[in-house]
Amino acid sequence: MNLKKIVIAIDGYSACGKSTTAKQVANVLGYRYIDSGAMYRAVTLQFLDRHVALTNPREVSRVLEETNITFNLNSQKESETFLNGLNVEKKIRSMRVSEMVSQVSTLKEVRDAMVDLQRKMGREKGVVMDGRDIGTTVFPHAELKIFMTADMLVRAFRRQRELLEKKQLVDLDEVMENLVQRDRIDTTRSESPLRQAPDATVIDTTYITLDEQVDEVVRLALSRMI
Ligand code: C5P
Repeated sequence: MNLKKIVIAIDGYSACGKSTTAKQVANVLGYRYIDSGAMYRAVTLQFLDRHVALTNPREVSRVLEETNITFNLNSQKESETFLNGLNVEKKIRSMRVSEMVSQVSTLKEVRDAMVDLQRKMGREKGVVMDGRDIGTTVFPHAELKIFMTADMLVRAFRRQRELLEKKQLVDLDEVMENLVQRDRIDTTRSESPLRQAPDATVIDTTYITLDEQVDEVVRLALSRMI
C-alpha cells in the first residue's frame, strides 16, 4: 500500500514529553524529527553570547542574519543542534538558556525567521515537528495535530531527571519555577502564543507511559496516511 507522507505537529506546555514522543514516533514511521524548541534555544544562546539588547530590533535582526541553525545526526542517529557549524546540543539545554528562551521567543523578528526555517525543513513532509505553534502557525494544515499536557509536578520531576542525566543537578523548585514562567510567557505573548489548535487531539501524559504516548500518536498518524 502506498502511504501518504504527512506532517505531524506536536504542541504543548514545557516538559510534557513532546520531544521524547516526537523522536520515537519519527523513528517508528521513518520520518524526520525537527525540534523547533532547539532552534529558539540556539538563537537564545547566540543572543546571550553576543550580549544582544532584546529591546533593540535592529541589533536583533543583524545578529539573526548571522545565525545559522542546522541539525545533524550523531553516531547514534540522534539529531543534534548546530549553531554556525558548532555543536551546541548540550549548551542549549542549560538553565542559563532555559531562563531566557521564552523572552527571546516573544520577539517578532525571531519568530518570523524561525517559522520560515521550520516551513522550509517541513516542505517535503514526512516530518514530526514539536513546539508551541506548529499546528497553529507553522503548519496550520498539518494532517495530524497533537496537543500534549501533563500535571505540573510530574512535568517538573521528569525535567529534573532529564537534567540529572545530563549531569546537571537542579532543585525541583527551580525547575518548576522555570516551567511555570515559560508557560506563562508562552501562552500570553502576542506573536503566535501557545494555543491548542481546534482540530488537535489532546494527550494528557500524566498517567500514561512513553510507549503508550508513542503508540497513540502512531495509531493516529497511520489513520491519516491512508
Ligand atoms: O521545546 P522547548 O521547551 O525546548 O522550547 C523552549 C522554548 O522555546 C519554549 O519555552 C518557548 O518559549 C520557545 N518555543 C516557541 N515556539 C516553538 C518552540 C519553542 O516559542 N515552536
